[in-house]
Amino acid sequence: MADTYDIAIIGAGPGGYVAAIRAGQLGMRAVVVEREEALGGVCLNWGCIPTKALIKNAQMVHFINDRADDFGITVTDPTVSWEKAVGRSRRVVKRMNRGVEGLLRKNGVDVVRGTARLTSATSMTVTPPEGEDREISATNLIVATGSRSRMLPGLKADGTRVMTSRHAVSIEDAPERLVVIGAGAVGMEFAYVYNAYGTKVTVVEMLDRVLPLEDPEAGELVAKHFAKSGIDIRLSTRVQSVDVRDDGVKVTLGGVGNGDDTGDGDVVEADKVLVAIGRAPNVEDLGLEAAGVELNERGWIQVDAHMRTSAETVFAIGDVAGPPMLAHKASHEGVQVVEMLAGLAVHPVDASYIPNCTYCEPQVASIGYTESAAREAGFDIKVSKFPFIAIGKSIAIGEHDGWVKIVSDAKYGEILGATIVGPEATELIHELVLARTAELTADEIIASIHAHPTLSEAIHEAALGIPGVPLHI
Ligand code: FAD
Repeated sequence: MADTYDIAIIGAGPGGYVAAIRAGQLGMRAVVVEREEALGGVCLNWGCIPTKALIKNAQMVHFINDRADDFGITVTDPTVSWEKAVGRSRRVVKRMNRGVEGLLRKNGVDVVRGTARLTSATSMTVTPPEGEDREISATNLIVATGSRSRMLPGLKADGTRVMTSRHAVSIEDAPERLVVIGAGAVGMEFAYVYNAYGTKVTVVEMLDRVLPLEDPEAGELVAKHFAKSGIDIRLSTRVQSVDVRDDGVKVTLGGVGNGDDTGDGDVVEADKVLVAIGRAPNVEDLGLEAAGVELNERGWIQVDAHMRTSAETVFAIGDVAGPPMLAHKASHEGVQVVEMLAGLAVHPVDASYIPNCTYCEPQVASIGYTESAAREAGFDIKVSKFPFIAIGKSIAIGEHDGWVKIVSDAKYGEILGATIVGPEATELIHELVLARTAELTADEIIASIHAHPTLSEAIHEAALGIPGVPLHI
């Protein structure tokens, strides 16, 4: 006999477990199935949370090494322990695992351990780590199985010489030399962390800039800071081969045929290589065919704007439903699906309302259209950029590299997008997320009184720049 639910969710990452909490709140009978012992998915266990814990360490190391003196603080012979940094990061994860378990319990959600496989559009079989298979059926199913690191063809992650992010966030010793392949958010965050702990880092990126999804000027500033910290960044460069040996790795580089083939044939020797070239969806052995769920041409589960798959009763959310691969996107989609099933008013999920954040220093955060994307989309735009160097709080705290850029529609004044690079960018961006979501104009930000002295004044000033009247520049 199958256990019967209103909603059954596969995967307890930020997509699945948040959907389950919301279902519980709305009085649905909900179950979430998870194959790993720890709840929380990639985000909580191997991604967002443990990396941010390590980044906090890296910021403190940089402060002690490079800036303490400016503040009149003398630190004699500081020692830093990578092992202890990782230990702290893992303790943070454990604490949050317990938090997720508690939240699911509090909301009456059943948690089933095991690997789920769909048997129809309303049922699944769960194979637990031990014991007998279990049948679960539900009126609606949500697939929230997430993604895993992509590997370079022919290369196998062994955790010793060739790492994925999962290894990089948990190894016991920081290597002396590391090659990071890929300069997206994940690669750049790890480059920042390991560099702080004394690792000689080389970042290899095929495209001609770091953080390719962001405003190119933001990437330029980050690359400048990284270079100053001693990180070797190789742009427009392809990894030709990785020779894995007992005592290290030999990475041979090549050009990308864009006329900028300066590093062609260079060999970088390192102790480890971290492959951070993107994510692949967890769709294998899921029984998608039995449920009538189709994939799109890129291999992600095909969904409509309400996350419904080709099977009427099956929804897919988070990484498995395609980019952007972000925890808050997964959670938002989960809540939207559950609320729609409960008969509440929902809106289609539009990627241009999802903030993007990279937490290295300087931080980068953005929402909506970049300047060039807005132009390409045919908008007539006004752009205003305001530097942190002209903000009192930035000077006071000694963090003044960076700026706020706002892109607005020239005719109606609506804010189409914004990018912040610099101190606390990943916190500050939310004023602009709200502005974009509520279809506010720069005038409405201007009319909002911003406290002094705060970093948020840079947003106020950037808004003032739209009509051309910034005050402090
Ligand atoms: P996941 O978190 O991948 O969870 C899926 C769950 O499903 C897993 O627990 C898996 O075990 C389970 N599962 C899979 N198949 C089955 C099955 N057949 N049966 C049962 N269970 C199954 N995003 C951000 O927004 N901010 C960040 O700062 C950030 N940092 C990151 C840093 C790193 C190093 C990485 C790798 C990612 C980072 N991300 C970040 C991305 C973020 O982790 C993902 O977008 C997010 O975890 C996706 O959530 P999800 O619920 O879709 O899937």
